[in-house]
Amino acid sequence: MISIKNYTYCNSVAKTMHTISTLRKQGFRMTNARKAILFMFDQNSMPLSALDIIAFLKQSNQEVNKSTVYREINFLIKKHILKQLFLAGGVAYYEPADRNHHHHVVCNSCGKIEGVSLNKEKMLISEAQKRSSYKIEDHSLTFYGACKQCQ
Ligand SMILES: [Zn+2]
Ligand SMILES: [Zn+2]
Repeated sequence: MISIKNYTYCNSVAKTMHTISTLRKQGFRMTNARKAILFMFDQNSMPLSALDIIAFLKQSNQEVNKSTVYREINFLIKKHILKQLFLAGGVAYYEPADRNHHHHVVCNSCGKIEGVSLNKEKMLISEAQKRSSYKIEDHSLTFYGACKQCQ
């Protein structure tokens, strides 16, 4: 289980406020749970699972039941604010859909997940395109291993 540090308003708060006002203009209700989830993703660079979100809400004394959290996640995915990641162990993780393109490293021991950017991925994509003659439109690539603490 991850702990969420520094749940305070910072720079990215402007982005979240913008998202909130956009949703409001579209006529969507902004419940406390919805707002809390949006702010949570702005304060975290790591992908979060539904269980992480539930634990965080509990930690900040917000009474939100599980089905509400799942409903909110699905709503935010439909609005293209969050996207779902398929990483390991059949657990779904979520992160903001507008985060810069990156991949993930997953620790096989403790389950910690971090983002990683690759310098040479254009080469990989063009190689895949050449070898397959497909027009490559998307890709997914995840690395598994042992994190610093687990090595
Ligand atoms: Zn990539
Ligand atoms: Zn680890």
